[in-house]
Amino acid sequence: MARKGKAVICREWNKPVVVEEIEVESPRRGEVMLKIAACGVCHSDLSATNGTIPMPPPTVLGHEAAGKIVELGEGVTDLKVGDTVVVSWVPMCGKCRYCVEGRPALCDASAKATLTLPDGTSRLKDAKGNTLNHFAGVGVMAEYATLHRDSVIPIDADTPLDKAALVGCAVMTGVGAAINTAKVRPGSTVAVFGAGGIGLNVIQGAALAGADKIIAVDLADKKLEFAQRFGATHTVNPSADGDAVQRIMALTGGGADYTFECIGAPKVIEQAWAATRKGGTCVVVGVTKATDQVTLPAFLLPFQEKTLTGSMYGSARPSIDFPRLINLYKTNRLKLDELVTATYKIEEINRAFDDMQKGVNARGVILM
Ligand SMILES: [Zn+2]
Ligand SMILES: [Zn+2]
Repeated sequence: MARKGKAVICREWNKPVVVEEIEVESPRRGEVMLKIAACGVCHSDLSATNGTIPMPPPTVLGHEAAGKIVELGEGVTDLKVGDTVVVSWVPMCGKCRYCVEGRPALCDASAKATLTLPDGTSRLKDAKGNTLNHFAGVGVMAEYATLHRDSVIPIDADTPLDKAALVGCAVMTGVGAAINTAKVRPGSTVAVFGAGGIGLNVIQGAALAGADKIIAVDLADKKLEFAQRFGATHTVNPSADGDAVQRIMALTGGGADYTFECIGAPKVIEQAWAATRKGGTCVVVGVTKATDQVTLPAFLLPFQEKTLTGSMYGSARPSIDFPRLINLYKTNRLKLDELVTATYKIEEINRAFDDMQKGVNARGVILM
């Protein structure tokens, strides 16, 4: 049955978001309805409110959530009501060449469903009966959500849901960039530009992979403190320590084996590239504006054999990686408790966005 509940909606770009009661349609064939327990506040949600991610409003925000299944659509036989799940914002079709190759983060079908469920329609209506978009194909900053079955990954019922939620974006994206995309080797050197929610997880992913030196670069000392707690061995604040590239060159003896850009700024991507050693790998995780360009020194490309790659959702294979990350947490090898530095009520979303911009949190989480 359809259910009513509160949701965070972007009504207009560059305006505060609003919390309204919406109607969530019951699941159709191959879908499930969730009661959301917790939803992380991610920079991508903010980017959707100012047009950096150009998704037209009205949109129900949120893509980093965990909850319990309250209703099953026809044909869903491998899950049951009451199951605990983490939301994946990349539903894998399982059939396209990327899914078949084991790279479901690049799934063709999911790339088409960024404002709707995979079938191209919405399950969300406002009080006037107008259709609302699903942010990132999910829209889970809400009390209820109807999603495609492929957008939910079952996990152990005893996992704290405010921590589990973060596995669905920040942790998967950051740890995945280090261990799935870059495949950081033990004993290597790593530089991470930007120590926000994603950067901290790249740092803990690199630490998990056995990196020797992990250098965190950020303009906020508070974030560099967090970075050290997550495994950074060195920190660079360019406003106090001078040029980050030169510092990394000096600390690594000629550049880091792996560099990660976790901000989404063309200038910083160029710095990360410059700070990568010969034969090393530069990974772009941050999302820039759609019109941004980067300039690289072409002459050096053949002489240095560097690799430049993006990392989409930490090259996630959600059905494998989410339970694996939860297991790493439960066995004290992955920090999730330390990541949640503030919790908010859904009505406090604008304050949560402000706090994120001020850099006071490792991650803020909305508890429903
Ligand atoms: Zn996110
Ligand atoms: Zn696919």
